Amino acid sequence: MSGPVLIPSSSLSQRLERVRESMRTAGLGAFVSFGEADCRYLTGFTGEAASVVVTEDELILVTDSRFTLQAREEAPSARLLLANEHRDDQLAQLLRGSLTEGRVAGIDGENLTVRRWDRLRASLAEEPRILFTVTGEIVSGCRVVKFPDELAELRAAGELVTQAFAHLEEMPVVGRTEGEVALELEFYLRQHGSEGIPFPFIVAAGPRSAMPHAEPTSALIQPGQLMVVDIGATVGGYASDMTRTYATGTLPAELHEAYGVVQAAQARTRERAGPGMPCRDLDSLGRTVISDAGLGDFFVHSLGHGVGLEVHEGPRLSANSDDILAEAMVVTIEPGVYLAGQGGVRIEDTVVITPAGAEVLTDWPRDLKLLG
Ligand code: ZN
Ligand code: ZN
Repeated sequence: MSGPVLIPSSSLSQRLERVRESMRTAGLGAFVSFGEADCRYLTGFTGEAASVVVTEDELILVTDSRFTLQAREEAPSARLLLANEHRDDQLAQLLRGSLTEGRVAGIDGENLTVRRWDRLRASLAEEPRILFTVTGEIVSGCRVVKFPDELAELRAAGELVTQAFAHLEEMPVVGRTEGEVALELEFYLRQHGSEGIPFPFIVAAGPRSAMPHAEPTSALIQPGQLMVVDIGATVGGYASDMTRTYATGTLPAELHEAYGVVQAAQARTRERAGPGMPCRDLDSLGRTVISDAGLGDFFVHSLGHGVGLEVHEGPRLSANSDDILAEAMVVTIEPGVYLAGQGGVRIEDTVVITPAGAEVLTDWPRDLKLLG
């Protein structure tokens, strides 16, 4: 039997160096993250119930004895600290031992429950020499710009989900349930190498397609409807996220028009995405195309989001985002229009920002296609 696929140590040390740089900028001598994706990013560990502690000269993975073997196998570069029932005291002691005088420990505020924070704060308070602050986005902020080894996995995840759309377009859909179609797509993806699925798949036909996050039901897909299919693959822990909308027969003129508007908004924003573009401006550009067609009230979500170890991560492509696109960010571009009682349209690609603009990782035709 072969062992786990390890992240090369050169990749892990690049990531760690970037995180330490971000800690120095924030004035932190240590950082504790409770996010599963952060733990995986820095150590390779894929289990649950873990935290990762980065200090100026150490990387410590904290998990419990259920995961001892897995942690030793997947995360050989991290020092393993097995948590007992006093895990918050253990963390506080660890920080006391590793922080130099006057340095501040950053505590991840993005992935900690209030209950856990109450206990951890009490443990930290018993170590009077520890200065600490709650802060987010130290590791997750570093994850926004991808390294080449991450881009290779994201590219593979993009290619795999694109193949699933090719498979879908060969499948009969009318007369089947949304659930059956979603299950067949999941089966196809897993069979072809997806590690599970990165989010619950959306297959929504007819009026249900007007709900941006509709779960597949046992409703039969009828002729003459819009059908939104939003699926993804996971490769090496990295996700892809892709949506196409189909017609299952001749559509009412209003829905046909809505499709054209979303397609134009998606093309405009995809073409304009590139390094230096403020995310809120790109969102606004997509929104303008849709508003100019009189459908502005029906674009009810943001333009897109970052994709990586998590399917939703930074940057945020929304009206109130302060993020700016930069080379090697991976984001979705996914405008939509949702007409209650009638149907919805969304077209979504995962793209990587390059010096020349945006390279599509889920490259597949976007003209309205008829599925039978
Ligand atoms: Zn999606
Ligand atoms: Zn998405």
